This record gives sequence, C-alpha cells and structure tokens, in this order.
Amino acid sequence: MNEKRKLGRNEQCWCGSGKKYKRCHLNRENEEPVLSWESEAALRREFSAKSCGAPDALKADCSKQIAKAHTVPKSGSLERIARNGHVYSFVPSFQNLTRNNGRLVPELHGINRASTFTGFCSKHDDAIFAPLEKNPFLGTPEQCFLLGFRSLAREEYAKQAQAASVARLRQQADRGRSEGEQIAIQRFLFSHNTGIAAGVRDTKYYKSEYDQILVQRQFEVIRAYIIEIDGPPTVMCSGGVFPEQDFEGNALQDLADLKTTPSIINFASFYGSERGAVVFTWLPESDSTCRVFIKSLDCIPDAALTDGLLRFFFEFCENVHMQPEWWEALASATREAVVNRMAYPTIGPLPGCLKDDGVRFPPWVIVRRRFVNFTV
Ligand SMILES: [Zn+2]
Ligand SMILES: [Zn+2]
Repeated sequence: MNEKRKLGRNEQCWCGSGKKYKRCHLNRENEEPVLSWESEAALRREFSAKSCGAPDALKADCSKQIAKAHTVPKSGSLERIARNGHVYSFVPSFQNLTRNNGRLVPELHGINRASTFTGFCSKHDDAIFAPLEKNPFLGTPEQCFLLGFRSLAREEYAKQAQAASVARLRQQADRGRSEGEQIAIQRFLFSHNTGIAAGVRDTKYYKSEYDQILVQRQFEVIRAYIIEIDGPPTVMCSGGVFPEQDFEGNALQDLADLKTTPSIINFASFYGSERGAVVFTWLPESDSTCRVFIKSLDCIPDAALTDGLLRFFFEFCENVHMQPEWWEALASATREAVVNRMAYPTIGPLPGCLKDDGVRFPPWVIVRRRFVNFTV
C-alpha cells in the first residue's frame, strides 16, 4: 500500500485493490457507511454459498440439489447430546458479539442450523460418505480417510467464505470514514487477507491431494489416531488445523513463513454408533509435524486426556457443539476459561496454549487408543 502520495484519478488506488483510484477510494469518506445488519446479511450469504466439494473427476454426476451436509460426522451424532434438538454452539453474529462486549459466547442453536454447511450436492454427500455414515465406526482406513476428507472440504468452504467476506470488507468497511481511519482499516484487512489467502491456498492443496486418493481409492495411505470413548462425547466438533505447537509447548512449524505449505491435521469428535470417538487424521507428507503432535497427545494419561482434548478443541476449532446439561453444569470460572480460549476475532494462539492450564472438565471414560498406519 502506498498511501502517502496524492493520487491522480486514473492511477491505481493506494489500497491495493487493483482498481483505479476514481473507482475505489476517491471520495470514500463521503460515502454512506454500511449498516451492521447489511453487513451481517452479506456475511450470511457468503457462508451459505452452495457448491459441491466432490473431486473434479466426479463432478459430471453432481445432482442439482445441494445438501445441508453435516459437519460433525455420522448424522445422529449431535442428536445424542442435544436437548430438544438444541446444543450450545459458537455462532459469530453481530448480536451475539454486541450482547457480550465483543466476546463470542456459546448459545443454544438447533442442531441442523449450527452444524451444517452447503458444500456437497445431495448425491455426493450420500454416495461418498456412505461407508462412514451408514456403518458403525470401526476405524477402517476408508472411514478415517472420509473423516479427514469431510473436515477438509468444510475448511476449504469456510476459508473461501472468509476470503469473500474480506474482499467485500475492503470495499465497504471504511465507507464514510476519515482518510486516516481508511488507512488503518485497510492496513488491518490487508494483513488479515494475506493470512487468509495463504490458508485458502494450503487447504486447496490438501483438498486436491485428498481428492486424488478418493478417486483412486487408496485409503490405506491415511494415518489416524483414534481415541475410543464410552458413550457420546459431550463436546463434538470437526475441523482441520496447521499445528504450531504440541501439548508440551514445543514449537512444531512456523506459519509466519507463507512460502511453505504447512502440515495439516484433521480431527473430529463424534458418536460412532457403539462408542464415542475422537479421531485425528493426516497424510504421510505431514508426518514430521503430526507424529510429534500426536506423540505429545498420546503421552497424556487417560485421566487428564479429556482436559487436553478440550483445550485443543476450544483453542483451534470454532465448529464446536456442546451438550446443554454439560455446559450448564460447568463452574462459571470454567465457562469463562472456555470463552476466553474461543476469543473472537482470534489474536492467534499463544505459545504453550495447549499445556495444562489447570482447568478441569468432567472426564470422559477412555476405552482405548489406536494407531492406524503409524507408530509414535
Ligand atoms: Zn482503494
Ligand atoms: Zn456433487
């Protein structure tokens, strides 16, 4: 951004949009500010865009109907912890944030609203995930692969929505503001956008790797760490993360280096028909980071494992859904600690954020832990 010099009307705008100054920031201070409800409606549109995340090789068979695909695997998982069809979820909205002084506080949401995304056509949502959705979870390589595939598809969908909303904000957020404010807002959005663009690029890369494995049905390559739990986990989630540090606070990879593709690990917490399961999956190319990460998790004894897993979920996943009775029974200091971990917008994880912080949750009964295609 080069904001100091006086620009001619036909020069490229200082904000980096690539547009001519006269079509971008000229007179922006006199434009009508965008109202919060308009901005929120636009955000909702961006996060409900419809597309199918099936591999390109299968796209010719797409059905016209885009499904409301579950993000928490195995439909029926969330029903196991819902109360009257509702769970506590973290859904960012202008109302939620203003009501709670800018903090994102979990609220009761219908399970179909809080945890679905429109990222698969109904045919592919059904066909691709049938081995996972229609059979009990046994931890077969195919099932583990599909867990990773679904969370990666959702990550890609969410990152593209974020990119669309930042692109919109760069055109709207500073309308009616002074030139100094415009520069501050554009600087913030510019650096935010740089991180998001890298995230879009990296999830796209892994999604195409997973696409290829799916098309060639080479599921045996998947690595997985499976924790079996007695009964449904009271906290369910699904996501993908580029792990920066392990549970002992050791640094794993540097995300500030935007030139390299970081290792990614996908995870899900759900009910597998007979038992609960928390599953981490990754590809061999991410071994160097993910094995160290999982080793540090595997070192945590059963009695402390629930606390460790929940530190990780609340720190790195916004797609988290909680059993109402469980959340309401937590001590207020514990709930406070959870909300602080979910702080929105995230300032980024602090060093040592996964180390034991003394916060205790009602422990899940760990039945066993399994390694699929690797050892630590
Ligand atoms: Zn501009
Ligand atoms: Zn499709």
